[in-house]
Amino acid sequence: MLNVPSQSFPAPSSQQRVVAGGRSKVPLKQGRSLMDWIRLTKSGKDLTGLKGRLIEVTEEELKKHDKKDDCWICIRGFVYNVSPYMEYHPGGEDELMRAAGSDGTDLFDQVHRWVNYESMLKECLVGRMAVKPAAPKGMLPKSQATDTLAREGPSSPSYDWFQTDSLVTIVIYTKQKDITLDSVIVDHQDDSFRAETIIKDYSYLINIELSHAVQEDFSVRIVENVGKIEIVLQKKENTSWKCLGHPLENHNSLVPKKDAGLFYRQCQLISKEDVTHDTRLFCFMLPPSTHLQVPIGQHVYLKLTVTDTEIVKPYTPVSDSLLSEFKEPALPNNKYIYFLIKIYPAGLFTPELDHLQIGDFVFVSNPEGNFKTSQFQELEDLFLLAAGTGFTPMVKLLNYALTNIPSLRKVKLMFFNKTEDDIIWRSQLEELTFKDKRFDVEFVLSAPISEWNGKQGHVSPALLSEFLKRSSDKSKVLICICGPTPFTEQGIKFLHELNFSKDEIHSFTA
Ligand code: FAD
Ligand code: NAD
Repeated sequence: MLNVPSQSFPAPSSQQRVVAGGRSKVPLKQGRSLMDWIRLTKSGKDLTGLKGRLIEVTEEELKKHDKKDDCWICIRGFVYNVSPYMEYHPGGEDELMRAAGSDGTDLFDQVHRWVNYESMLKECLVGRMAVKPAAPKGMLPKSQATDTLAREGPSSPSYDWFQTDSLVTIVIYTKQKDITLDSVIVDHQDDSFRAETIIKDYSYLINIELSHAVQEDFSVRIVENVGKIEIVLQKKENTSWKCLGHPLENHNSLVPKKDAGLFYRQCQLISKEDVTHDTRLFCFMLPPSTHLQVPIGQHVYLKLTVTDTEIVKPYTPVSDSLLSEFKEPALPNNKYIYFLIKIYPAGLFTPELDHLQIGDFVFVSNPEGNFKTSQFQELEDLFLLAAGTGFTPMVKLLNYALTNIPSLRKVKLMFFNKTEDDIIWRSQLEELTFKDKRFDVEFVLSAPISEWNGKQGHVSPALLSEFLKRSSDKSKVLICICGPTPFTEQGIKFLHELNFSKDEIHSFTA
C-alpha cells in the first residue's frame, strides 16, 4: 500500500514543485496530493454533475463554463469538468483557469503532454465536442499536413518494400544524411507493424497491418550517406505477398515530433541491484519485436498502474556501468535498457517500481529530449554539474564524449550530494579518473559528516568559478547541468553571471 505523508504536497524539496520548462508548481493544501485525487475519483462521487451521462458539447456551451466552480476544458475533442480537480492540480488553479471554457490542447501539450490526462480525469469527462474543434497539428489530414511541412519541415520521406521467398524488406527514404540506428523505432506485434523515424524535429510514421504473419526477430540497417533505413522482416511462410498490408492510424504521415504522441511497449524487469541505500539499477528487456535505442541525453517515460490509475514518470536510461561503454558490451545492449532510480519511500511511483518482481512488466515510451550530440562538435572542455540522480544523463554523455570526440581535452564532473552514502557509482568515477587522464571528478556534499574533508555546501558562484577553468582562453566549452529544479535554476543563473553564454549551457529538464 502506498504511504502518503501528511505534510503539504509537494514537499518543499520535491522536484514536483516545478514542471517542464521551469514552470513553478504551487504548494497544495493538505489532503490534495495525487494519491488523494485518485481516492476521490474512486469514491463514486459524481464529479461532473451529470450523474454519469455523457453529452455533446457545443462551442457556445463550452464557453459558458469558464469559472473556477464551473470550469470545463476541452482536450483533443473531449470535454472535462475540471472544477473538482482545481485544488489537486500541481501547477495551481490559475494555470488550469487559463484554458477555462476553451480548447486547452495546445496549452496542455506545451506544459506536460506526457501526463495521462485520460486516466487522471476520466471521472470528470463531460462528453465530446459536438463540432470538432480545430484539430491539433498532428491530426491534420495528410494533404494539409504535407502542405504545411513542405514549407517548414524536412522534405517528405517516403517508403517502399520488396520481398524474397523468405524476407520482406521495408525501405524508408528519409532524404537526410544524419540518420543513425537511434533515429528509427520499430515495434511489431502479431500483424501490426509500426516504425517511427525521427528526422530533425519531425516524426515520420509507417503504421501497417501486415498482410501476412512475420517472425518476431527482424533487423534494422542504415545506409547513412543516403539516409536510407532498411527493416528486414522474416516471413513465417514462404509465400509471395501481393501487398504489404493495410494502413493503420496516421500511416505515412510526417508531423512535428511534439505532436506525434508517445508510443509505449511492455518491457520485462530482468534485474534490480542496489547502488546506494536508496538508488537501484533496474534492467529491463525490450520485447524481441522492438528496435529502440535511446539517444544520448534523452529520457523515456515509464508507466505503471497504481490503484487502477496509470501513472507516468520520466527517467533517463544509463549504461550498465560507467566504464562499459569504452568497449562493445558482451550483451546485445540494444535489447536491454538500464535505469538508475532513486526510491522515495513517500513517492507515488518509485515505491511501486521497487515492488516489481523479476519478470514483471512496465511500459516504456519512445524517447524525448532536446540534447543533440552535435553540441559536442569541436568541443574541448566538457563540464558536468550533477546533483543526486541528476547524474543519470551524464552517464552516457560522459562515455560518448570520451570515446567519440577527438578534440576533447578535459571532462570534469562536479557531483553534488547530501552525504557520501548518496554518491552514485563513486568508485567507478574514481576509477575513471585513473583510466582517462582527461577526466576528473569533484564531490560536493551539502550535509557531510564532520570528518569529510572535500568540498561542502550548495551550488554557488565561488564553487563554480573555481571549477570551470577552460583548458585555454578560447576553448570551446559545454556545461551540462541536471538535478533538482532549484539546483538547476540557481546553477544556470550563476553560470550566466560567470559570463558563460546560452549556447555553452545545456540544462536537462522534462
Ligand atoms: P513523488 O510522488 O513525485 O514524490 C517526490 C517527493 O515528494 C518525495 O520526496 C516524496 O516523499 C514527496 N511527497 C510525495 N507526496 C507527498 C505529499 N503528499 N506530501 C509531502 N511530500 C510528498 N529520477 C531518477 O531516479 N532517475 C532518473 O533517471 C530520472 N530521470 C528523470 C528525467 C527527467 C527528464 C525528469 C524530469 C525527472 C527524472 N527523474 C529521475 C525523476 C522522476 O521522474 C520522478 O520525479 C522521481 O522518481 C519521483 O517519483 P515518485 O512518483 O516516486 O515521487
Ligand atoms: P537530493 O535531494 O539528494 O539532492 C542532491 C543535491 O542537490 C543536494 O546535495 C544539493 O547539493 C542539491 N540540492 C537539492 N535541493 C536543492 C535546492 N533547493 N537548492 C540548491 N541545491 C539543491 O536530490 P535527488 O533526490 O537525487 O533529486 C534529483 C533531482 O534530479 C530530482 O528532482 C529529479 O527529478 C531530477 N532529475 C532530472 C533529470 C532530467 O533530465 N531533467 C534527470 C534525473 C534527475
